[in-house]
Amino acid sequence: MSKNNKFSLATWIFIGLAAGVAVGLLFIQNPDFATQYIRPFGTLFLNLIKFVVVPIVLFSIAAGVVALSDIRKVGSIGGKAIIYYLCTTAFAVLVGLVVSNLFKGGYVLLDTSSLEYEAAPAPSIVNVLVDIFPSNIIAPLANATMLQVIVVALFFGFGIIAAGEKGLPAARAVESLNEVFTIIMAFIIKLSPIGVFCLIVPVVAVNGPMILGSLAIVLLAAYIAYILHAGVVYSFIVKTFGSLNPLKFFKGMLPAMMLAFSSASSVGTLPLNIDCTKKLGAREDIVNFTLPLGATINMDGTAIYQGLCTVFIASCFGMTLTLTQILTIVLTATLASIGTAGVPGAGMIMLAMVLQSVGLPVEGIAIVAGVDRIFDMGRTTLNITGDAACALVVTKLESKKDAKKSASN
Ligand code: ASP
Repeated sequence: MSKNNKFSLATWIFIGLAAGVAVGLLFIQNPDFATQYIRPFGTLFLNLIKFVVVPIVLFSIAAGVVALSDIRKVGSIGGKAIIYYLCTTAFAVLVGLVVSNLFKGGYVLLDTSSLEYEAAPAPSIVNVLVDIFPSNIIAPLANATMLQVIVVALFFGFGIIAAGEKGLPAARAVESLNEVFTIIMAFIIKLSPIGVFCLIVPVVAVNGPMILGSLAIVLLAAYIAYILHAGVVYSFIVKTFGSLNPLKFFKGMLPAMMLAFSSASSVGTLPLNIDCTKKLGAREDIVNFTLPLGATINMDGTAIYQGLCTVFIASCFGMTLTLTQILTIVLTATLASIGTAGVPGAGMIMLAMVLQSVGLPVEGIAIVAGVDRIFDMGRTTLNITGDAACALVVTKLESKKDAKKSASN
């Protein structure tokens, strides 16, 4: 795609988003129309994305591993990415906790006696770990269990490298399939402006009046924390470790951020995020490897949300958190965000795990559940932006390492 086209896609997505908000406001009195007749087209668009995302993750990670052609290189890139993910996510939980504490005065003590929330069982930490490894090869692909798809892709890639000469046909097949699915993905990305419009209209129509309600303060706190994290942490990271102007970074990321905002799905945004990150100058093999990984395990927005809501829910129940509880929240929210699937609403289910870890009532989720989608749109936007920043930073670090190596040879 030429530079002009890139600009026009971003503009079109923005038009889709703005028009969607305007039309959504018109339907506030009649949200049923929006949910019955407009949302299905948004769902159709998301279906198309979901259909392409499993092969994209499978083949791009496998092709990424094969392209690196050396298991040590995979380890070097993967190691850097995972350290980045863990540090930024733990920091994000802290941002959520601090901002939420600043806004605590505005939270009201609620009458929580009538709360009913059937919490979906949150998996234990050990189960999250065990479930990463699939016991069969088809199920992860069929059910789009992303962490397991990544494991399949990694084994596949490693197998191809280890097979040497005999693995070459498989390497070529993976490369070719990666290309084919990238082209299919490009077609689907072109539909983004319409998809964004159809996704945002029902959200605004249904939630419009509620935004004005009592949850406004905690939503505001969440968005301030999201913006702070992006504006300060990511700007600092891309500038310092990626030698990239932050403004250029956010401008290049805009199409993916707008799609993340309206779809609330990191996995659904993955194809467009890959596109934006490559255009910003990240190395293709690194993007293909770290972005699908990040879409699944790196969720700074979700971590912020979990830290922030824990303080909010504690306040609603008239409880104050101790230092030990705060440290427990940092640890569990980091792990919970890793275990969160990159799909709408997943972060709210994992919030149960965080609340349970510090003995807070899981029913508290009911307070925030009604507006979860609005939290989700912001946290997903942050989630995917963090993944892109990581790919750019790792690109820079790897190229420095390669330059040093060739200088010493
Ligand atoms: N919707 C988020 C994402 O896809 C996950 C979450 O619910 O926090 O990144």
